[in-house]
Amino acid sequence: MVIDFKEKIDFLKDLIAKKSRHSLSLKLIVAIGILVLTGSSIFWYMIIIRGEQEFLNNSIRYTAAYTAMIEKSIFTNMHARQVGTIQETIEVIGSSEDVISIDVYNLLGEVRFSSDRAMVGRKIDVDTSCRLCHTDPERPGETLKMKGGSMWTIKKGDGGRVLKFLRPVVNQESCYTASCHYHPPDRKILGILETDYSLANIDGTLRRQKIETLTFGIIFTFFFCIVLCIILWKILIRPLQLLAEGMERVSKGDLDHRVEIKTRDEMGMLAETFNSMTRELRSARQRLENWAKELEAEVAKKTEEIRRGQEQLIHTEKLASLGRMAAGVAHEINSPLTGIVTFAHLMLQRIPPENKMDREDLEVIIEQAERCSKIIKGLLGFSRAIPAERADVDVNDTIRHTLDIIRNQAKFHNIKIETDLSPDLPLITGDASQLQQVFMNLLINAADAMNDKGRIRIATRPVTEDGSEFIEIEFTDSGPGIPEEHMGKLFEPFFTTKPVGKGTGLGLAVSHGIVRKHGGQIRVESALGKGTSFFIRLPRAAKGTDGGDAAPKGLQQA
Ligand code: ADP
Repeated sequence: MVIDFKEKIDFLKDLIAKKSRHSLSLKLIVAIGILVLTGSSIFWYMIIIRGEQEFLNNSIRYTAAYTAMIEKSIFTNMHARQVGTIQETIEVIGSSEDVISIDVYNLLGEVRFSSDRAMVGRKIDVDTSCRLCHTDPERPGETLKMKGGSMWTIKKGDGGRVLKFLRPVVNQESCYTASCHYHPPDRKILGILETDYSLANIDGTLRRQKIETLTFGIIFTFFFCIVLCIILWKILIRPLQLLAEGMERVSKGDLDHRVEIKTRDEMGMLAETFNSMTRELRSARQRLENWAKELEAEVAKKTEEIRRGQEQLIHTEKLASLGRMAAGVAHEINSPLTGIVTFAHLMLQRIPPENKMDREDLEVIIEQAERCSKIIKGLLGFSRAIPAERADVDVNDTIRHTLDIIRNQAKFHNIKIETDLSPDLPLITGDASQLQQVFMNLLINAADAMNDKGRIRIATRPVTEDGSEFIEIEFTDSGPGIPEEHMGKLFEPFFTTKPVGKGTGLGLAVSHGIVRKHGGQIRVESALGKGTSFFIRLPRAAKGTDGGDAAPKGLQQA
């Protein structure tokens, strides 16, 4: 396991720098540290106390052992009447390390034997000495505090603590039945064996042991705390930190952030839950963004439609005023033109056939005047000067009728015409001959654009939009298409790209007028190199009428 100490130190620095008293990690570390410190202090204290006790017990056991040995020596040597050997034995034992003194007193307080030969024969104050063991010196046999046949106490001496051990020399049967009869049988105690054992060495050892134990305890606690910190950092603090960081980043809008905790414990589960929550948030945001984009696109589409509608309105207004002007002009010119043609015909009749030059000139005048007349007729059609009929019209029939007419014309011999006419197409109310004129215009334009060879597709279909019912007629050709810059001018009168003498630029303008008059719309879609489609929408005839006067809403409005 590679432990990044720098990271941990930075973390601790950060912790201290922030003085985050409310930080969970700091609280945990402090709480566990205090617990460990208290626990280990109690543990080490108990160990020290137990050690001390053990040492003391050993000293007592040792002292009890050699005092028992001295007592044995006293009995044996007394019976053998070798009193000097007792003194020697005590001196030998008294010379051992840590044994300060060994004294044997009789009941009068006289030192009978001592490790210090100079003490033999001296007397001690019985009252004071006896009170060490007896609560009532008057009745010594009853009040002696004896434990296991001996007594001990610990006193402060010059060289340190001293274990004072007292052992009564008990009158035994062998003593009062001996031939010397020195001690009467009613005496229970014959004397006292007192020994002072120095605890200085033991205390020194204990002191050293205490220091060592304390040092070891501190080092152990220190390392334990460090290891605990590392474990806590790894399993709790770091994951919590990562989660907190993650939450902060997510709250700032970074929904791509993932919390990388790979453990299978609660932290891992928490991180997984957090990650799945951010995933959900991300997809919700994605959905919202998509909705916003769709909404934007819808708004843009509607705005474009409104713009086109406005353009169309302006265009329609322009066409209407042009139409009124054209109607006036056409009306004014129509009568003189009719006069020119009539009088030219009369003159032609009067000119003899041999005057070829004049006849040819007159024929040119008549031809040109008739051409003008044709244009005037177109203008009048554009301006609706020609009255329209109103009847139920089956647009499919009108299309078929138009196709019957054009099929015989050489212009359409190399053009394949496909039809897809809906059998459910409702009737419309209008003027079939005017609609036929519209269809004819569109077909001729398509043929012109394709240089008289290609494909034309004619389709009809019922359409329902915003609760209103229409029929839609589509004319699609496989021609070269219309350049973008021409699209806005197509329905303007006199706009033509055809050579002089071939096009008048009135076909689409007139068609537009007729469609509008029927309450409908005409629009064009074109792609360069692919072809052009014209779409005409006309309102269906009002239901429950037989056509006749019941004109559709759109037609009445136009
Ligand atoms: P004209 O046919 O006398 O030119 P129109 O108003 O009928 O007048 O047509 C105007 C112009 O629109 C045409 O000159 C032609 O440039 C263009 N146009 C119409 N229909 C098509 C079509 N299907 N393909 C390509 N261009 C077309």
